Amino acid sequence: MKEYKIAENDTPYWWEAAPVRPLPKQPLTKNLDIVIVGAGYAGLSAGLVLAREGRSVAAFDAMNPGEGASSRNGGITSGSIRPDYATITRRFGEEKAIAIEAEGKIAREFVYNLIKTEGLDCDFRLTGQFKGVVGFEDYEKTARSAGLLAKKLGIEAYGVPYREQGKYIGTDFYRGGMVRMDIGGLHPAKFHAELLRVALASGLVIHSGTRVNSIEKEGSAFVVSTSAGAVRARQVLVCTDGYTDGAVPYLRRRLVPVRSRIIVTEELAPDVMARLMPKQMMMTEGRQLGFYYRPTPDGKRILLGGRDSSRRGDPIEPKLYLRNGLVNLFPELENVKLSHTWFGNVAMHRDMLPRIFEREGVVYATGFCGSGVVWAPWVGTRAAHKLLGHTEQARSAFDFRPPASIPLYSGNPWFMPAIIRGYRIQDQIAFYRARR
Ligand SMILES: Cc1cc2nc3c(=O)[nH]c(=O)nc-3n(C[C@H](O)[C@H](O)[C@H](O)COP(=O)(O)OP(=O)(O)OC[C@H]3O[C@@H](n4cnc5c(N)ncnc54)[C@H](O)[C@@H]3O)c2cc1C
Repeated sequence: MKEYKIAENDTPYWWEAAPVRPLPKQPLTKNLDIVIVGAGYAGLSAGLVLAREGRSVAAFDAMNPGEGASSRNGGITSGSIRPDYATITRRFGEEKAIAIEAEGKIAREFVYNLIKTEGLDCDFRLTGQFKGVVGFEDYEKTARSAGLLAKKLGIEAYGVPYREQGKYIGTDFYRGGMVRMDIGGLHPAKFHAELLRVALASGLVIHSGTRVNSIEKEGSAFVVSTSAGAVRARQVLVCTDGYTDGAVPYLRRRLVPVRSRIIVTEELAPDVMARLMPKQMMMTEGRQLGFYYRPTPDGKRILLGGRDSSRRGDPIEPKLYLRNGLVNLFPELENVKLSHTWFGNVAMHRDMLPRIFEREGVVYATGFCGSGVVWAPWVGTRAAHKLLGHTEQARSAFDFRPPASIPLYSGNPWFMPAIIRGYRIQDQIAFYRARR
């Protein structure tokens, strides 16, 4: 029987302009100052700082550099924090909650500045982001939170009532929303490729297709066993996020890999794009498992992403789920063809705050919960300064105790499909209540 294909290609759209590739094989340096595990945004950003400080530093990646989440994502520079302000205050106190929110703003500006000062050619545009809500009561709450962002953090943010929403998006699905102008979009694979270029130029050695198998303490140093042989390093930084495997069991018990999937449409007519996305903004939703979507950087297609409840193989249901979501938002796209669909892993954990922490001498920069376009370079850079002993530059509200472990969990997230289905049901109930 002929397999029914939802999209023409099952590989990331982004790889057409910026393919991920193996790097030329490098000889192993047996004694290093620092080993980095993982060469996504976090590992490369850290490596850039460390190499420029004159350290002998090598990054190992089990796949091609970037082949993890860093070339598969939506490219939205959200820097969002999953728990809301009230929840963070309840758990950690008001001082920490304010510090965390403020660091989001600093981290976004850091990434925009990095792109500019390093000349990273990655189609970045500070377009602003529209967040749609499904009920009029939600709108009141969202407009208030936009007001707070503007007042407390000086971010250009405002509520958009239902009657004005057509200026931002061509759908009747929402009952208004909010805009914040500190968020934009980039080409994630180009961003990674450009970070790779400057990191290599600064002297970072990268061993691609080389898995770290274990990290053992030996005296005051570490022995890092890799698929290419063992090396000794004075310090180790782990940047494996949603691809964390058995090499770092301590982290694996704390991070839950969850699939996020994206679909991309074929090229749409200019008048359709102008009607559906008049301001070419990044888009998000105020639901538990909302979609994120955006125009591609050339402004010709729509890219839409959301959670994928599958764990194995590449089943068709999650693709259909996103396709239905797209048509629900934009009914005129009912017959549109999809050019690409793919998935990647994001790393979730119990308190959902990005993290820098140290345990038994190993430093970790991780836990980005699907918002690492901003957080991974920021946290990776802070972690590098932590390794260098630069107290001031390492300072971060995310440098505190490790995420809590999950009872009875050692890396097999068998419970995730049920959790995702539960959230979807909650979203449906919230939708019907809001529209009663
Ligand atoms: C489909 C999708 C859409 C997303 N959309 C957005 C978005 O729009 N905005 C946003 O802010 N974020 C988004 N994200 C999240 C963002 O992409 C990630 O948070 C970010 O890329 C994480 O970067 P990283 O460097 O920490 O990890 P990764 O880029 O995932 O890199 C980790 C690397 O570690 C390597 N590794 C793991 N174990 C080992 C080992 N034992 N030895 C050697 N190497 C190892 C892996 O091979 C991998 O390359 C999305 C993610 C996905 C999957």
